[in-house]
Amino acid sequence: MARNDYRSMLLQRMEKTFSNWSDTEHVKEQELYRFLHTMKGTSGTIGMTDLARFCSGQLDTLTETSDALIPVRSLKNFISLMRNFFVQDSTPIQVHTSTNLTSAENNDSFVLIIDDDLEFVSYVKENLEKSGIQVVIALDGKKGLELFYTLLPNMLIVDIQLPDMNGFDILAQIGDIARSRYVPIAIVSGDNSKENITRAYTMGAMDFVIKPIDMSVFIPYVHNRLQYKKAIWQSASIDELTGAGNRRQFNDTFAQFSALAERTRRSFTLVMMDLDHFKKVNDHYGHPMGDDVLRSFSRVVLNMKRETDFFFRYGGEEFALLLMDTTPDESIILVERIREKIADITFTAPSSEPFHVTFSAGASEYRINPEILLNEADQALYQAKRNGRNQTVIYQLNNSDVKRHLNVMIIDDDLLVRTMLVKQFSNWTSDDMDIVVHEYPDGYSFLESDWYKADENYMILLDGMMPKMDGIEVLSTLRKRYPDDNIIVSMLTGRTSESDIILALKKGADDYIIKPFHPQEVLARVQRLTERLIK
Ligand code: GH3
Ligand code: MG
Ligand code: MG
Repeated sequence: MARNDYRSMLLQRMEKTFSNWSDTEHVKEQELYRFLHTMKGTSGTIGMTDLARFCSGQLDTLTETSDALIPVRSLKNFISLMRNFFVQDSTPIQVHTSTNLTSAENNDSFVLIIDDDLEFVSYVKENLEKSGIQVVIALDGKKGLELFYTLLPNMLIVDIQLPDMNGFDILAQIGDIARSRYVPIAIVSGDNSKENITRAYTMGAMDFVIKPIDMSVFIPYVHNRLQYKKAIWQSASIDELTGAGNRRQFNDTFAQFSALAERTRRSFTLVMMDLDHFKKVNDHYGHPMGDDVLRSFSRVVLNMKRETDFFFRYGGEEFALLLMDTTPDESIILVERIREKIADITFTAPSSEPFHVTFSAGASEYRINPEILLNEADQALYQAKRNGRNQTVIYQLNNSDVKRHLNVMIIDDDLLVRTMLVKQFSNWTSDDMDIVVHEYPDGYSFLESDWYKADENYMILLDGMMPKMDGIEVLSTLRKRYPDDNIIVSMLTGRTSESDIILALKKGADDYIIKPFHPQEVLARVQRLTERLIK
């Protein structure tokens, strides 16, 4: 939908409200507040920034809950000012380029901040996000630990003073796993006593950052640490000779794939590949030539696999492929293409005749547990060798290729917001998930609908302020009725007020997005949150 269509829709709705008012003598202050609040959120989102600013200024003079009656005739001037914005404003739509992240950048720039100082964290979040880093906040230690395990951030920033525990307790609990994943941890505190700093470093923090922080220094600092984490993670998980993932990364990814298959109906295939008579290559042409063959083999596979496939050197001349949402039958298509490419390569060692190499492969699909899968793929590989090599054997045919379901629930009384989000989300397709978008005009109709299925996943975008039942109430009911971990909730809030955000996070929101927003940003954010949960 073009921006002007949104503008005319907004204008129509505004005129409808004005016309309703003209039928009465008074408007309740809280009604005016709600009207301006919605106008502010929507106008800002569709790029009518002057109008948004005007609404914001008006809101400052009103009380959200007041029953006071305002005479409609006193609103004449206000109404004509509001109308003026639709005449004047014809600036082109603003695209927030700084937050248009590619998913790759996005993937490596994910920070978890555990800090109960909401003003501080919101400020840091806003600034880091402007610079392309995605930030999730936990206001207490318990939530922080939970988010650390589910979201696996690339960097962790922890305050010392937390309501339920202190930052050192957090370090004690996740220091080891963070270090094993090279996740940099920064302790942030206003109390820079020698004792605190010593303790932070002793317990494995990488940095001690003193509050108040200078944003112009802090942003490059966080980028620096994220780059470090990325580089060291890559170098620690890649096999030097071949560029494939190393055994350690195989173990890691294999465990992740298995955990995911356990939690969901997704499945994956493991293909074990072993070069045929490789000892002879070494014996006839020398080890350097053998190394060349291993490198060439890896290069072929790395070039041919999809981005979502993972390739590892399992050991020696044995390699592994992990293919999510792929059956062994489907995996054969890739494996046989690799076979053709490898057969095409002519290796030439100095002063000996040219030669070719082949490989054998065994494939099996995850069913019960990782050990069984590894064993099955190994048996299939062994069978391929016994059948005469240069072929692939499938251990077991399994025709279940059901994708995981993700339901995106958009609950907002603002039709424009819903329309924009539905449009944005309807373009989202994924190899990993079936994505279905649902919209509800209020929390009540959402809760009353028959929306929940225990084996599906939900990303709920919940407006904080709605008639009938406000977002917090919907959130509380939701978390009480469905205490499962297949629901992620992000509050859409126009209110930057500290208490609302604290309340939302306390009542179980996983994230919050401040209105006005750009629909693209919301999509990128949601993709990020959901991707982290299914990995
Ligand atoms: P099969 O077809 O039954 O797999 O026979 P094969 O000779 O390939 O199998 P085997 O496991 O008996 O021998 C594997 C050889 O691979 C032995 C080892 O020296 C060699 N090898 C392992 N890692 C490397 C390496 O990094 N470089 C070189 N050049 N050779 C390696
Ligand atoms: Mg071999
Ligand atoms: Mg071998």
